[in-house]
Amino acid sequence: MKLTADVVVIGGGVIGTSAAYFLSKAGADVIVVEKEHVAAGASGHGPGFFNAFGGDFSRGDHLALGLESIRLIRENREHLEQFQEEPHWFNDRPSIAPAFSEDSRQHVREMYDTNGSQLEAAGCGGTWFEAEDLIKEEPLLGSNVLGGYIFPSVIQIDGWKLSRLYMSAAKEMGARLVTGEVLGLDWDKNRASGVRLADGTQISSGSVVVAMGSWTPVASVWLGFPLPICNLKGQLHILRVPGGHDLKHHVIERIAVMQYPNGEYLLAATPDPAPGGGLRPTDAYIRPLYETNALPEDTDLLFETGLSMFPFLKGAEIVKDLAGGRPMSVDLLPMIGATPALDNVFIAAGHGRKGIHLSAVTGKLTADLALTGKTDLDLNIDAYSPMRFMPPKL
Ligand SMILES: Cc1cc2nc3c(=O)[nH]c(=O)nc-3n(C[C@H](O)[C@H](O)[C@H](O)COP(=O)(O)OP(=O)(O)OC[C@H]3O[C@@H](n4cnc5c(N)ncnc54)[C@H](O)[C@@H]3O)c2cc1C
Repeated sequence: MKLTADVVVIGGGVIGTSAAYFLSKAGADVIVVEKEHVAAGASGHGPGFFNAFGGDFSRGDHLALGLESIRLIRENREHLEQFQEEPHWFNDRPSIAPAFSEDSRQHVREMYDTNGSQLEAAGCGGTWFEAEDLIKEEPLLGSNVLGGYIFPSVIQIDGWKLSRLYMSAAKEMGARLVTGEVLGLDWDKNRASGVRLADGTQISSGSVVVAMGSWTPVASVWLGFPLPICNLKGQLHILRVPGGHDLKHHVIERIAVMQYPNGEYLLAATPDPAPGGGLRPTDAYIRPLYETNALPEDTDLLFETGLSMFPFLKGAEIVKDLAGGRPMSVDLLPMIGATPALDNVFIAAGHGRKGIHLSAVTGKLTADLALTGKTDLDLNIDAYSPMRFMPPKL
């Protein structure tokens, strides 16, 4: 079979589908090629919190990227919401960044001192509450809490839901989804002319977007260029909790605890054990790509940590386990932009713990770069260029 499109996007995760959404919005004819199904990879596991406070963003350009993605998801929410399969896929609540130890209290306060003004300028600022007042706001917090910041509005949406919304909206604008595995690129001089699929299908295209998540290093071979991404495992559990409690806030600390509109809860974390017990904030829990099962010892650790912060979780019944890897570039920054080998091939990958949150800005930037070679977003995008992994000249 032979197909043609303006742009082929390889990968139907939250990043590839977002690229398809923004490309279609800009009028491009797009084909997304996905080897399994939409959100079959990391995007099938993660709950996405569109929150810019925390260790994932450093002050300045990087935080600006996170804030721009919040602006874009808010701007596009109404359009995307038209495609949801049941109500309330966007779970918008205030969020709490609590401190349960003196160390963590000092850490979050310092982090806010550093980033607060930038958050506030973007309408994403928060307010510190001492323990007594914080518990009045969120009575389900353990009495061992020392205080925390409350942020008035944080959108939460599961990666698989957001991927489906982007893809459905893109399809309505003319995009096509092809199921198949891309085995390589076709090229003509220094430009890609399309992609080849395992079943023999050839798709000719003006440009190609590589959004293959943790599989992106495979494209290194096609491009002769390093795309260093590793697989940071995370684990989450959907819970039913006896007693009909109502958690008013998303709680995002070393673990995330939140309630879905249907009453079920979510408990998620990177279950990297800290030397003295509990979990540590980590970028080092690297596990093989095929390990997509919850490990019993990690589940125990997660519950132990969760219970120490939220005693109401006692007696929780696990409804579903979801565990999987997050595609994380080795310098912890996403890769967004053109490659040196073929100048119409764009990488959109390596977002680690923030791929759902950063999907909107990544999709928009990828669409801008693929269609016009520049962007009108007021961001310094050089830091995310895959060119930073170019081997030094000998
Ligand atoms: C427990 C957990 C909690 C998380 N929490 C959050 C959070 O709160 N906020 C947040 O923003 N992010 C969170 N994440 C991270 C987020 O899920 C990822 O960063 C994001 O989903 C990555 O999306 P992606 O599209 O790059 O990759 P993927 O979703 O893995 O998509 C890549 C796709 O490419 C396809 N593919 C690969 N190779 C080929 C090929 N050759 N041909 C065709 N198709 C191919 C795969 O099948 C896959 O569907 C969490 C993740 C986990 C596991």
